[in-house]
Amino acid sequence: MIQESEIRTVLTEQLHRLRARAKRIDDHQHNRDRELPQDFSELATHRDHDEVVDALDTATRRDIRRIETALRRLEAGIWRTCVRCEGDIEEARLLSIPTVTQCRECAAIADGLQ
Ligand SMILES: [Zn+2]
Repeated sequence: MIQESEIRTVLTEQLHRLRARAKRIDDHQHNRDRELPQDFSELATHRDHDEVVDALDTATRRDIRRIETALRRLEAGIWRTCVRCEGDIEEARLLSIPTVTQCRECAAIADGLQ
């Protein structure tokens, strides 16, 4: 049986790390327009870099939302409950991905619909 308190601790630590990262990305995004290079090829490299940073920002914010949802579900005592069929999410699945909200079967169906 998974200890939910341990999961909560791990997720909370991850959330702090991700929020710190989101803040660093944010600072970076705010500063970048002030220090644009004059050289065109350097400017292109700069733009590529910006795209990478923007992608990282999107991924970080998505991860933050997933962890916040998992923590809310833990708090509400429904962390183990599938949002689609309301059955139990497999223990092994929760252990490997603590932020899942669907059981294996429902997730497979949802994937098939996409
Ligand atoms: Zn389900």
